[in-house]
Amino acid sequence: MNDKTPFVTKAQLEALAEHYPTPFHLYDEAGMRATADALLEAFSWNPGFREYFAVKANPNPAVMQVLADRGCGFDCATLSELMLAEAVGVRGHDIMFSSNDTPARDFRRATRLGAFLNLDSLDMIEYYERTVGALPDVVCLRVNPGGDFVGTNTIFDTPEESKFGMMPSQLGEACRLLGARGVQAIGLHALLSGNTHGNTYYPTLARLLFEEAVRLNRETGMRIAFVNLSGGIGIPYAPEDEPCDIRVIGEGVRAAFEEILVPAGLGDVAIYTELGRYMAGPHGCLVTRCLHLKHTYHDYVGVDACAADLIRPAMYGAYHHVSVIGQEGGPDKTLAPATHTYDVVGGLCENNDRFAIGRKLPEVAVGDLLVIHDTGAHGRSMGYNYNGRLRSAEVLLHADGTHELIRRAETPADYFATLDGTPYAKRLNDAMDEQD
Ligand SMILES: *Cc1c(COP(=O)(O)O)cnc(C)c1O
Repeated sequence: MNDKTPFVTKAQLEALAEHYPTPFHLYDEAGMRATADALLEAFSWNPGFREYFAVKANPNPAVMQVLADRGCGFDCATLSELMLAEAVGVRGHDIMFSSNDTPARDFRRATRLGAFLNLDSLDMIEYYERTVGALPDVVCLRVNPGGDFVGTNTIFDTPEESKFGMMPSQLGEACRLLGARGVQAIGLHALLSGNTHGNTYYPTLARLLFEEAVRLNRETGMRIAFVNLSGGIGIPYAPEDEPCDIRVIGEGVRAAFEEILVPAGLGDVAIYTELGRYMAGPHGCLVTRCLHLKHTYHDYVGVDACAADLIRPAMYGAYHHVSVIGQEGGPDKTLAPATHTYDVVGGLCENNDRFAIGRKLPEVAVGDLLVIHDTGAHGRSMGYNYNGRLRSAEVLLHADGTHELIRRAETPADYFATLDGTPYAKRLNDAMDEQD
């Protein structure tokens, strides 16, 4: 259980909403720092440990900077994500390039930056050599063990149905091809589930990758530089979700390390992670305001945010906790009993644009501030412009209590920007000059 209290008070939210028009995503620097520190502490038994924050979870450079300052590197998958890492001043082996179906241009940039290359398929060895050049000394291979990925009493997921990674039977050949091209050492990587609960996902995955590492080392003589456990640690979106205990997870990986790698003479392998959701998810929220109340076959709270700002509920039916904060000068509604049942909806012309369905909440009034929790990862970054909806601003709440606009809200000019050079650009400019 967790109590889902927002990380800001009613008074703080009111002050912020005076300053920044709703809706906006708000990020908590102190929370992100504390999570990064706890992760590093949990894996401090491994001298080479590194967290590569998955940039796709929150590609705002100011957020990335908070994590880089805590000692995190970045996991990038595309040219633009590489550019963001570069803009934050991160390069070399502080970048993991975990791409798939990769164009040569992206590989070239990753190579110029000196990033670790995480190859998703066997054909990429030849593709890289043909389109970019000689492979670097250390190359990572992405593993897909097939079948179901099973833990004690759980099926985490079904890798066999995943497009990612190489089959174990292809890894030996990959090592031989790499060895013949002068590659000195490999890393092994796998991401076999997402938003996992409990503390067994990483230890189970570590066991699988460690055994694979020992086998490949024995069969091909290839040196193993690191094992990359990737992302996938979950967060408690719902009040009944039990939070993961990163310390227990770190100790579980350590037990597997000492049982499998150390006796095989591979005790110098570094452990890497590429967590996104775990690092940033709980440390963001979407601040929105009730625009309309509608009572038809359901009771609807229409807010000024929509799926353009947070698509997870519409896309996956994902639960995001909602707190009603209330009005300026009014009672703190987070303390009020949940007496009403609402659907909390946005304004997209899509019936699935609902942040919450049949949710028990305190009575909502037009103008009330609401907080949609856990939008710090895969929130703004999955946003889109359907219906001409403009994505909201991002605000960073610094550890000292000050706040900073780290991305402005989109304007119609952003939405029309890619029509430049067409005959409509001028007319759209004229339309934007009109006052509403
Ligand atoms: C999405 C992704 C991650 C991050 O996953 P989380 O669930 O946010 O931890 C890490 N690595 C790769 C390659 C990914 O695609």
